[in-house]
Order: sequence, then C-alpha cells, then structure tokens
Amino acid sequence: MEKHLEFFITYTCPYNCVFCTETLWMRKSKWKFFPTKEIKKRLILRRRQGFTIVKFVGGEPTLHPDFLEILKFSKKLKYKTGFPTNGLMLARLDFCKTVVPFLDEISFSIHGHNAKTHDKLVGKSGAFNNVIRAIKNLDLGKSVDKFANIVVVKDNFRNIEKIFDFLHKYNFEKVLLSNMIPADGAGFKTNGLGYKNFGKLTVRLQDWEKGLPQIIKKAKLYNISIQTSGLPICILKKYKFLSNDFLRSAKTWADRSAEKKISIETISEYPSDATTVAIKTKVCENCRYEKICLGIFEEYYKIFGDKELKPFRN
Ligand code: SF4
Repeated sequence: MEKHLEFFITYTCPYNCVFCTETLWMRKSKWKFFPTKEIKKRLILRRRQGFTIVKFVGGEPTLHPDFLEILKFSKKLKYKTGFPTNGLMLARLDFCKTVVPFLDEISFSIHGHNAKTHDKLVGKSGAFNNVIRAIKNLDLGKSVDKFANIVVVKDNFRNIEKIFDFLHKYNFEKVLLSNMIPADGAGFKTNGLGYKNFGKLTVRLQDWEKGLPQIIKKAKLYNISIQTSGLPICILKKYKFLSNDFLRSAKTWADRSAEKKISIETISEYPSDATTVAIKTKVCENCRYEKICLGIFEEYYKIFGDKELKPFRN
C-alpha cells in the first residue's frame, strides 16, 4: 500500500466557500505561503520514510509563488503528485502548461451545475468560468487523472444530477461526493464558516438516503465512478461500498506548519477532517460496520439526533 502525504503549503485563498474547513488556519497561520526551503526539506525526509504520493493542499495550493518549483522538486524525488484546486490559476493557459508535465492527479472543486450556484457557494463571481477554462486548458496537455469533488449542501443537492451532466460533458470519470463537515481546520470546532453554516446548510441524512439511488443511476449512465465521504455507511445501504470509510487503509498523513512557527507538524495519520468531528452513538453498538464506519457528525447529532441511522445487524 502506497503512503500518502497531504502537505499544507498555503494558508490563503481568495474564495470564501460557505463550507470551508480551513478558515481558522488561514486566519491564524503566520504563513500565507510556507517557505519553499522548508517544504523541500520535508519532502526529502518523507521520501526517505517511504512516502510515494504527495498531495499539495491549502488554502489554494497553486497560489504558492514557488508552486512550479515545488512540483518539479517532488517529481525529481519520484513522488506521484496531485492537488485539489478551485481552478483559478489553471485558468491561465501559460500557468497550466508549465504545471501539467509534473502532475499526476488533479481534483477540481465543482459545487454547482452553473455559475449562479457555484459562484454563490464559493463566494466569488467568475469562479465557475475559471473552472471551465482550467478544465479546457488541462485537457489540451498530457493526460492527467482528473476528478471532481462536490461538497454537497442544501443549495446544490437537488441539482447534483445536473452537475453530473456538466461533468460528463467535460469527460470526468470520477467524482467524490463530500458531505459538508462541521469543522474548521483539522477538526477544530470554531466559529469558522464550515462550522458556523453547518446547521442551516447540511443535507439531512434521510434526504441523502432518498436521493442517492437516482444520483447513482445518473453516474452509471455516464460511466462515472462515485465515492462518498462524511456519510454514515448505513445511509448508503446497498451502495455501502461507495463509502470512502472502506479505504482508510490507504494511509494519509498530513504535514502542516504549526501556528506561528516555521516548523511543520505532522498531524499523524488521518483520513480526513471528518473523523475528528464524528461520533458513534448508542445506535451504532453492535452494528456490523461499527469499526469501519466514520459514524455521524457530533454537530449533526446535537441538532437532528440519530434516528436516521439504521445499524447493520449480523
Ligand atoms: S449504525 Fe452507526 S456504525 Fe453502523 S453504519 Fe450507521 S453510523 Fe455507521
């Protein structure tokens, strides 16, 4: 099993996503851009420790002034490289062309089927057009494994099938459906956006359960494979193996700079922010997937209870 590293290299982003889980870090970190020299040191160390995949994250990672240099350096160390992006920088053809040769995988954040929804959710007009330009630019170069991450909230839930129409048009074959996480930076519960907006924006689990079969049908029609994150396995029912809870063995480690310090701290092995804010309730006792399942977000439980959970019995 290959070892994954998530490396937080930027603590800034010009967007203002309503579900952002990084607002706290971006506000508190001394660094907008983590120093390149330190990034290189850590990349060397991690490579020696057996890491073979590095995903650069942020904020918006492509904003790092030495982004190209960092990617090149990673390739020299024989990492497989990837990053999630809002598409802002890749919308520039010159930037895209220089970056793509050093890239293996990219994840586009696409939260709406049109500019109205997407731009509203990311808090930036013109953002949807940037994504389209970025996808088109990327498709001009060497083939890069691309997938879409949709953070699902009330505003886009009923139009997810339309997002799939869009993704099919642009030849996406993989999609991650991410349930909104009530967290703000490595699981800290603060008054940042992801945490603050959770109660009013999260999709009820019963609605996920009702809506998923139709979404999956659409994805199958387009030959798009789906994974879900942040959803209790029992909500997926017969589609349970779409849950990325079953992929935990693919170890991910996160490196990020400690607040106001130049050093980088390793936030040990973690599959996502989601695990730090999820709990198991009494209902989960004796459920067949209790050990594998993430459970339910604590905040969700506080607001809506756990009546929607239906444990799998042996
Ligand atoms: S009952 Fe609990 S442990 Fe079982 S699948 Fe549902 S949330 Fe997960």
